[in-house]
Amino acid sequence: MYLCDVHTHTLISHDSRAPLEKQAEAAAAAGLSELCVTDHCDLLNSRGQPVTFFDWPAAKEQYRRVKAAFAGRLELRLGLELGSAPLDPAAARSILAEGGGELDFVLGSLHNWIGEEGGIDLFYTRFAGDPDLCRRAVENVLTHTWTLVTRLPDCYDSLAHISYPLRYIRRDGMDLSLWEFEDRVRPILTEVARTDHALEVNTHHGLDLADWPRILNWFRECGGKLVTVGSDAHKPADIARGVPEALELIKAAGFERITTFQGRKPITHRL
Ligand SMILES: [Zn+2]
Ligand SMILES: [Zn+2]
Repeated sequence: MYLCDVHTHTLISHDSRAPLEKQAEAAAAAGLSELCVTDHCDLLNSRGQPVTFFDWPAAKEQYRRVKAAFAGRLELRLGLELGSAPLDPAAARSILAEGGGELDFVLGSLHNWIGEEGGIDLFYTRFAGDPDLCRRAVENVLTHTWTLVTRLPDCYDSLAHISYPLRYIRRDGMDLSLWEFEDRVRPILTEVARTDHALEVNTHHGLDLADWPRILNWFRECGGKLVTVGSDAHKPADIARGVPEALELIKAAGFERITTFQGRKPITHRL
């Protein structure tokens, strides 16, 4: 089984303090063959203010240094988790162009409300006791995910954590699933598949595995072939958490290969 974790963060991200050296050490200790660092670049910050910049010099310096240090022990790739690209396609494309030939992989994410609730990260929304707010959050994310996959296919390689709103809806004690939104999720998955993009199974540090079998089945039924896996680790202890279990789920859902990216081109590995 090809052990890889292609959704991880370091101190380049606003919400991580982990140097890439420590993440790579943890990856090697966990027996990973491949690690991709995907620091955050959200075009809205967590409080809803626009952002049009990513610190590529710092990200590339860290990546080059650690890649050299781990040569022969760990395949290290440079990725980016690009959030809210539909808000400002020109900024998204400019930031990706600055990544240049060294950029291996782009995760497409929606963390923030767009056009509602002040544009804040859903992390900051309090969902307790408000089922309408929960539904609006899922609908907002699905609306802009649809824009991402239909109008900005160049702005992502793998569609990250499609179930992101559920993390915080459930944190706040509310119960909602994607199953009620099947008529909106399936067209998104169909478009991801049709355009030869990947779907991410995000383990959320091993906490979120239960929803993936059904989402993977939908993706396969929609023609999906490429699947990536990531722990979304923000600290070394979370690197690869849930990844072996996720790979088993992916295999059980009928996929024979797991996908990683180099130079924004998919490479598949037998599960
Ligand atoms: Zn994310
Ligand atoms: Zn992330």
